[in-house]
Amino acid sequence: MSLSNGRSYLAIPGPSVIPDQVLQAMHRPSPNIYEGELIEITESLIPDLKYVGQTDGYVAIYIANGHGAWEAALANMAEAGDTILVAATGSFAHGWAEIAENMGIKTQIIEFGTHSPIDAGFIEEALRADVHKKIKAVLVTHVDTSSSVRNDVHSVRLALDACHHPALLAADCVASLACDTFEMDNWGVDIMVAGSQKGLMVPPGISFVYFNERAKIVQTSLSRVSSYWNWAPRIAPQRYYEYFCGTAPTQHIYGLRVALDMIRYEGLDAIFARHEILARAIWSAVECWGTGDGKMRLNIQNEYYRSRAVTALSIGAPFGLNLRRWVEKKAGLTLGIGLGMSSPEDPNGDGFFRFGHMGHVNAQMIMGLIGTVEAGLCALDIPHGPGACDAAAKQIALAT
Ligand SMILES: *Cc1c(COP(=O)(O)O)cnc(C)c1O
Repeated sequence: MSLSNGRSYLAIPGPSVIPDQVLQAMHRPSPNIYEGELIEITESLIPDLKYVGQTDGYVAIYIANGHGAWEAALANMAEAGDTILVAATGSFAHGWAEIAENMGIKTQIIEFGTHSPIDAGFIEEALRADVHKKIKAVLVTHVDTSSSVRNDVHSVRLALDACHHPALLAADCVASLACDTFEMDNWGVDIMVAGSQKGLMVPPGISFVYFNERAKIVQTSLSRVSSYWNWAPRIAPQRYYEYFCGTAPTQHIYGLRVALDMIRYEGLDAIFARHEILARAIWSAVECWGTGDGKMRLNIQNEYYRSRAVTALSIGAPFGLNLRRWVEKKAGLTLGIGLGMSSPEDPNGDGFFRFGHMGHVNAQMIMGLIGTVEAGLCALDIPHGPGACDAAAKQIALAT
């Protein structure tokens, strides 16, 4: 017996749930790309994108996913032979570093593992050891979607300033923008990358590289920048096609316009508070499931360092895999796979899974997710402690 008919919930950390308003706005024939409404709408996106990133700097838009934004950011901050420092707290930092390596950029990786946040002290140490100031940039992942750690990006700026190191600070906010508090200017971030398909609630396909005046000046000192990734024409286009170095992502522009309207209407503070409360409901449920014989555990122990938009968990192989299969087949709920968590005992990472709770999610969806996981644990006879639904409901009741 399956109870999966009805509206399904893709609770993975991206692509996230797309609001009907966004889908409807995208469901239209392509507009004129030479003049008219599309041009005005595109221009109108820029101030709202800056609001979401909390910056007065610049933002370039790319027709690409997050990997494209990674490459775009790198192409404008460094060139072959340069060195960058990468702080790794999960798979996504390694993904960004790999792209750099394949561009001929040397990477110096500081590994913090998959259960802990960045410790800026080690970054400061590495910067002090760089006496000839060869490191061009420090790359950090604000929220690493594989480990669900939320790093203190501002602490890395303080480390750079403490040793007067001129390297640019670049942050990956693909998973955190419009979910977790992020203040580009106040935190001294020079470059930031984001994508459309997570907190911004639009299908994958467009991404963003934000940068400030410092990064803009450094870019002009590079000996060459690829035409396609060059951010300069994109922020000051003489002709409309220069925004995208070619055909505009027509339908995405309409979708993003509506998504940004929704973000403006709710307000960033309310959005952050909503994510915070819903995350707390999930954490309290997991803590209950992990009592007694229950083996479910949150990946990040210290709640300050937990993402408010994605939660990585362990439950032991093969239970993570079995649970994901059950909730999808029987109840229409799709959970995220464990990413970057393989070990000799569990080579496929089947003991891990993730909840995506980013963007267009509300209390009833999260209560549905928790109740459905509870049902799966019962159906599969997976040992778990009691009280998860009650504990989650209390978090939501307390906050409202
Ligand atoms: C999703 C994600 C990416 C990659 O985005 P793609 O669109 O899959 O290329 C990069 N960084 C983080 C932190 C992410 O969550």
